Amino acid sequence: MSFTLPTLPYAYDALEPYFDKTTMEIHHSKHHQAYITNLNNAISNTEHQNANLDSLVAKAGTLGNAIRNNAGGHWNHSFLWETLKKDAKPLSDNVLTVAIKSAFGSLEELKKSFSQVAMSRFGSGWGWLIVNPQGKLAVTSTPNQDNPLMDVAPEKGQPLLGIDVWEHAYYLKYQNRRAEYVDAFWNLVDWDIVRKRFDAANSKI
Ligand code: MN
Repeated sequence: MSFTLPTLPYAYDALEPYFDKTTMEIHHSKHHQAYITNLNNAISNTEHQNANLDSLVAKAGTLGNAIRNNAGGHWNHSFLWETLKKDAKPLSDNVLTVAIKSAFGSLEELKKSFSQVAMSRFGSGWGWLIVNPQGKLAVTSTPNQDNPLMDVAPEKGQPLLGIDVWEHAYYLKYQNRRAEYVDAFWNLVDWDIVRKRFDAANSKI
């Protein structure tokens, strides 16, 4: 068994003008594909070759850097593509907005906190909105291709939203302006998916 690149649920140019077509095409067909190829090579002919992705991610810290980085890369990018949508609708009032108000005060304050962790991640990594093991929403960030599901994550939780702050995710369009890229991201968030992830996370607690 080997991992394969998931088909994007939209065209490469669907997220214009926020995420440009060239970046999306390279990000998906080259960067994401490379994580998958390298992951397949890393697990080939090992005891992990039939493992599922979630189990590799959960014990990533014990598997060596090749599996940790590339299993994380595959998981994180698959999650990101599913988070984004053309013509995404604003968040409407539901149990998720209640939880956001409880944790952050308002959606605007959540966006500020999320942008803050995305901006302050030095070098490459990801910013996250998670449900922590106590059932509360929190923002956090991870280096490289780590994520909050990994045994090595300093702050663990079920991811609801993640933003890729590697330069390959934004440099062609935004160059050094990471803040503009993070602002643009909010126009693409599919809140229906985020709400479904929130419900699924709560059902496990
Ligand atoms: Mn990326």
